[in-house]
Amino acid sequence: MGLVDTHCHIHESDYPFKIDDVIVRAADAGVEKMICVGTDETSSIDAVAAAKKYQPLYASIGVHPHEAKDGVDSIAHLAKVDRAAIVAIGEIGLDYFYTHSPREAQIAALEAQLQVAVDHQLPVIFHVREAFDDFWPVFENFHGLRGVLHSFTGTQKEIETGFAHGLYVGVNGISTFTKDKAQQQLFASMPLERVLLETDAPFLTPVPKRGTVNEPAFVRYIADHHATIRGISVNEVMSTTSANATALFAL
Ligand SMILES: [Zn+2]
Repeated sequence: MGLVDTHCHIHESDYPFKIDDVIVRAADAGVEKMICVGTDETSSIDAVAAAKKYQPLYASIGVHPHEAKDGVDSIAHLAKVDRAAIVAIGEIGLDYFYTHSPREAQIAALEAQLQVAVDHQLPVIFHVREAFDDFWPVFENFHGLRGVLHSFTGTQKEIETGFAHGLYVGVNGISTFTKDKAQQQLFASMPLERVLLETDAPFLTPVPKRGTVNEPAFVRYIADHHATIRGISVNEVMSTTSANATALFAL
């Protein structure tokens, strides 16, 4: 089974490379499937268009907590008219690190979009930063939610709460370059059966490509890194994480 990049933004209009070239380079690196993740109304519409046009691409739609003030109604509409092209709702959540949008607006946007996920039985790609105390009560108000805590950089206790709620954890380039010992320990010890690989391209470029624009082909370096820190083969990392992604997103 090939690699899956479960979180990238290569469909965005300001992504610097041609999507056709990016897909070719990904295939050369063994990356077979990529999920294009929306962050606002336009980006979600573009993700759906990319998924319809390119066979290896899949779409996730959502309004990021940075943008929480508008676009949520359009996500509900898009889920209705383009359900077949959509594999997830996200990235959605709460971000109290930046607080570009007020907390109340973020919570309202999260709740509205979780309802869309429930209505359409879609898994959710969560962006939660320094906001877990408010996040879990909202999450627990909905039944049957499945999903992933994308770009996780929290504590052991927070990830264990995530696992207890049946969530996966998305690991990206941060795991290859963090100097934080507790984080390194956490990345090496989390159960592989709960891990998804992602690039978050164009952001968070992994070692050894730091200083360049990130792209899905680089998910290979994240797989290599996790094989090294766990002392297992890269094939095992690939097959387990790709099976996780296939199961969660029905790819
Ligand atoms: Zn992202």
